[in-house]
Amino acid sequence: MIKPERQVRTICPYCGVGCSLFLHIKDDRIVRVTGDFEGAANHGNLCVKGRFGIDFVHSADRLRTPWVRRNGTLEPAEWESALGHVVERLTAIRREHGPGAIAFLTSAKCTNEENYLLQKVARGIVGSGHVDHCARL
Ligand code: SF4
Repeated sequence: MIKPERQVRTICPYCGVGCSLFLHIKDDRIVRVTGDFEGAANHGNLCVKGRFGIDFVHSADRLRTPWVRRNGTLEPAEWESALGHVVERLTAIRREHGPGAIAFLTSAKCTNEENYLLQKVARGIVGSGHVDHCARL
């Protein structure tokens, strides 16, 4: 077993339960994950995703920048440019096809509050009632 240099207390990124855990770090890499017995949501327990699924952090395949498709080709972009592109496209789609042409799919990785806010954006700003969530699939 690799002996860690330090531990970082944090929240599991996988779902809205919000289990508290410790990342055991060596050479700036996560070498083990353990549950936090002081965690109010989990009392030291973690499911298989929280306990063994954190290795994606060091994956070479991990997306580290937004990508925008221009003229049929995906290209890396700055966040401001990518978000501007999203606003531009959603505005054009809404103008040409109406708000019902836009749907929102949110995630179990978000908190309940974040999911609530997304449906407020969908219904209150865009005017679309097409809101769904991956946990319902
Ligand atoms: S350990 Fe499992 S139940 Fe807890 S937050 Fe992570 S994914 Fe959700």
